[in-house]
Amino acid sequence: MTVTTLSRQGAIAIVTVNNPPVNALSQALRQGLWDAVATCDADPDIRAVVLICAGRTFIAGADVSEFGKPPMEPHLPDLVNRIEAAAKPWVAAIHGSALGGGFEVAMGCRFRAALDTASVGLPEVGLGIVPGASGTVRTPRLAGVAAAVELVTTGKPLGAAKAQSMGLLDAVVTGDLLQGALDFTLTALEQPLPLPISERPVAAPAPEFWAEQQTAIARRAKGEAAPLRALDCLRKATEAPFAEALAFERATFLDLRGSEQAAALRHVFFAERAAPRPAHLAGVPPLPLRHTGVIGGGTMGAGIAAALRDADLPVVLIERDAEALARGVANLRSIFDAAVKRGRLTADQAEARMAGITPSTDYAALSDTDLVIEAVFEDLSVKHAVFDALGRFCRSDAVLATNTSYLDPRRIAEGLPNPARFIGLHFFSPANVMKLLEIVPVPETAPEVLATGFALGRALGKIPVQAGICEGFIGNRILKRYRMAAESLLRKGVTIAKIDAAMRSYGFAMGPFEAQDLGGLDIAFLQREAARASGQDVPETLGDLLVRAGRKGQKTGAGWYDYAPGDRTPRPSDAVAKLLADRIMPTAAPTDIAAYLVAEMAAEGQAILADGIARNAADIDLVKIHGYGFPRWRGGPMFASGTRG
Ligand code: NAD
Repeated sequence: MTVTTLSRQGAIAIVTVNNPPVNALSQALRQGLWDAVATCDADPDIRAVVLICAGRTFIAGADVSEFGKPPMEPHLPDLVNRIEAAAKPWVAAIHGSALGGGFEVAMGCRFRAALDTASVGLPEVGLGIVPGASGTVRTPRLAGVAAAVELVTTGKPLGAAKAQSMGLLDAVVTGDLLQGALDFTLTALEQPLPLPISERPVAAPAPEFWAEQQTAIARRAKGEAAPLRALDCLRKATEAPFAEALAFERATFLDLRGSEQAAALRHVFFAERAAPRPAHLAGVPPLPLRHTGVIGGGTMGAGIAAALRDADLPVVLIERDAEALARGVANLRSIFDAAVKRGRLTADQAEARMAGITPSTDYAALSDTDLVIEAVFEDLSVKHAVFDALGRFCRSDAVLATNTSYLDPRRIAEGLPNPARFIGLHFFSPANVMKLLEIVPVPETAPEVLATGFALGRALGKIPVQAGICEGFIGNRILKRYRMAAESLLRKGVTIAKIDAAMRSYGFAMGPFEAQDLGGLDIAFLQREAARASGQDVPETLGDLLVRAGRKGQKTGAGWYDYAPGDRTPRPSDAVAKLLADRIMPTAAPTDIAAYLVAEMAAEGQAILADGIARNAADIDLVKIHGYGFPRWRGGPMFASGTRG
């Protein structure tokens, strides 16, 4: 297959890339572009070259199937240099996204024109590496150091308008990209050509700039190496000649590519790509999802409804009475208002989100829904009453889902007229933000209903992971083990603050005790109490002692730590020390606290695999990363502890 074709429009050559699905920079494509430079240079009738891509996007980046294989010529940095050094100026015509190597190719071109809907970026830090084909060296020469730092160290793609305002693009066109690029090229040819980017000067920033950036990025990165190494490259690019900076970038790239962090991030990248379409559901068509319903407008119900609205699905919101319904609607309103405040939504978009909500206390409003998600109190009898009504009022082919965290979905499904349509869809709080969706089929769940759970996950932009039935499914089961292991360290005399600090320096935003204070200690306590009341032998936890003493976390101003009124700063507590004094027996404890706690998580993960609760180790890693704040660049507990599955 030829991945590049050459055509002509007057004196302008058009090089079209066609390497589906995303025009990745495979060896064949690099060779095709390499040869196109020679062909165009040799033709005296050609004055300029437009580089454009077929399909849904410009060159979207490196070819991930070449990851880990020996590099093949022509190498990308050489190709970018060759395009830049071509006798005829090249113009990149960008649609979709020009990312990583794709944007580096665009920077080899003399000009960049993009469709208004396009985005550009250098996302390499997300894979634990830095751009490897001049991204850190050309970007500051093209757009200045501040823009380059933003683009390279965050890895976040930028929309065309923003990219143009930062100097990354020369033109933004609407409508027909090729025509727009040809018009732009003809106009550009009437002016003296700008210097190739590698020959442009770069202004050195103020002396304190690098130190400030270093501090800010280190705080954000929490141990992740690539963003800081990218900053080093950018600094080199402003202080050293082009070729020297390029060599420095290349050396950094090669060093990071072989690093543990890059391996971890590649693992997560591939796991995330695989998760939404698991192999065992290939060929199972999901059911249509056009109308949805949510039962309960509390913390979870409102968040789930917001997530459905973000995916443009209409939602019928059911509550138990008018007052609770008004509260549910107000919860949704405040979610969208907050999004407006943060600039994520315009006021009009927020209105449209709200307009797609039909609040009701009457289950008859659900008669046309394809999927209903229940998020009422965690109480079996309340849930039974809800599903009894759903069984009577919903279409017999509607999917009925529960968001339960700890109840057995099989018990919830008891008595349903059509249990094949029943499934657990476990969202995480805040449900419109958190990426994880645990999908929990019961034995009767039909394959197409399971496939619909995954289709919903895709529609909502979530990471869907299938879980079997056990207490806590995958995520909360490991969380419980993690908390027990943290308490065991505490019993051995390691301080609460030391344990939390160890997990923070491992890369978590919070340690296990701080996190419980934030979320509230009472939920898990009540659950343990309920289990005890039902005759189960649940050993007393240290958390139980705290809750019994009224210390439920930040909401009561006291938990594992003390809190001053209106201040969320955790302060080590003498009261807690007294409360726990006779439970603590200083003995030898693991010195590497984080390694011990992660190994405990992984051990529970192994048990989960052995029980058939998770389909593979990578799914467990995704659960902890996307639902529980496990540092992504560590790859998840299974990867980090050597269970690569
Ligand atoms: P919540 O108390 O904030 O909300 C529950 C809502 O359900 C309330 O608004 C209540 O009025 C409504 N409700 C109660 N009975 C009803 C009925 N018969 N008909 C209609 N509405 C009714 O609780 P939550 O935190 O949103 O939890 C809801 C469910 O989600 C629970 O099963 C919980 O285990 C699960 N869950 C919670 C979290 C979390 O972090 N809070 C995370 C995942 C799953």
